[in-house]
Amino acid sequence: MKITDIFKQQARTFSFEFFPPKDEISAVDFGINVGQLMKLNPSFVSVTYGAGGSSQERTFALVGYLQQKIGLQTMAHYTCVGASREKIIADMQLIQSMGIENLMLLRGDPPQGAAAFEAPPGGFAYASELVAFIRAAGFDFCIGGGAYPAKHPEAATMSQDIANLKKKTAAGASFLLSQLFFDNAGYFRFVEKCRAAGIDCRIIPGILPITSFSQWTRFAAMGNAPEALNEKIKSYEGQPKKIYQTGMDFAIGQCRELLSKNAPGLHFFTLNKSRATVEIFETLAGN
Ligand SMILES: Cc1cc2nc3c(=O)[nH]c(=O)nc-3n(C[C@H](O)[C@H](O)[C@H](O)COP(=O)(O)OP(=O)(O)OC[C@H]3O[C@@H](n4cnc5c(N)ncnc54)[C@H](O)[C@@H]3O)c2cc1C
Repeated sequence: MKITDIFKQQARTFSFEFFPPKDEISAVDFGINVGQLMKLNPSFVSVTYGAGGSSQERTFALVGYLQQKIGLQTMAHYTCVGASREKIIADMQLIQSMGIENLMLLRGDPPQGAAAFEAPPGGFAYASELVAFIRAAGFDFCIGGGAYPAKHPEAATMSQDIANLKKKTAAGASFLLSQLFFDNAGYFRFVEKCRAAGIDCRIIPGILPITSFSQWTRFAAMGNAPEALNEKIKSYEGQPKKIYQTGMDFAIGQCRELLSKNAPGLHFFTLNKSRATVEIFETLAGN
């Protein structure tokens, strides 16, 4: 089912994002975690697409498996990285042949060390161009795109970033999933600005519950973590249980507020783990 058809049935969607496991042990671990998350009956799940090589093949294999064997409504992420027009057509035919109806189309990040993203030979420089190409080629996917409540890091200003985002929805993206953030007020301001710019589709907030010190160091700056949260986690360095509880309390409060103020759902960056997401769901369901 297309995600836009799920929207017609569900005022709010709850979705989970995975990445393809790297080896056999991670694959077993992933299976156990997906089993737990399935019990939460997600509206849809999505699988990220890596920068190159075998990880891309693993994305295709995993979306096919989750859709066909597990029966989850599964969205494949796909990026401009390394993709010529010919490759895009071949990949879209493959994805379509697996019964996948939903695509998350992204530009991708520049390779490590590169100052800026360069379009690959025969390919595209922006997600909006990829969206337009796939639409023009006649594929009937439901397409989502990325959105950045704290501004995409390469954009000079928020208004330029939102003007660029508008190109993505105008090209055919039917909904947006946000980058992770920790500042709800910033998300709501961003949604208002998008509406003022004529972006009418659902902008689903992306949630990353912080469960460890290393996750905090990786993601706090990206999501504009508030100083009070930063200070608390820093003060608990070396105390994993306290950090986990602090991250969970914050995420639960964040999700509660988003839903109470009518956010159109929650998209969880699960990092292939189930515990935190299951705990958040159980707590929200109990209140
Ligand atoms: C929910 C989510 C899931 C993600 N999943 C993946 C994944 O699976 N694999 C992966 O590699 N990455 C993934 N990413 C990361 C993403 O690839 C990076 O954030 C990347 O830097 C930008 O991708 P985009 O599609 O948002 O780019 P774009 O929408 O193309 O925007 C990139 C930058 O270019 C600017 N821009 C856009 N259009 C124009 C234009 N026409 N003219 C001038 N400037 C323009 C924008 O303002 C922005 O600064 C994900 C991001 C999100 C939010």
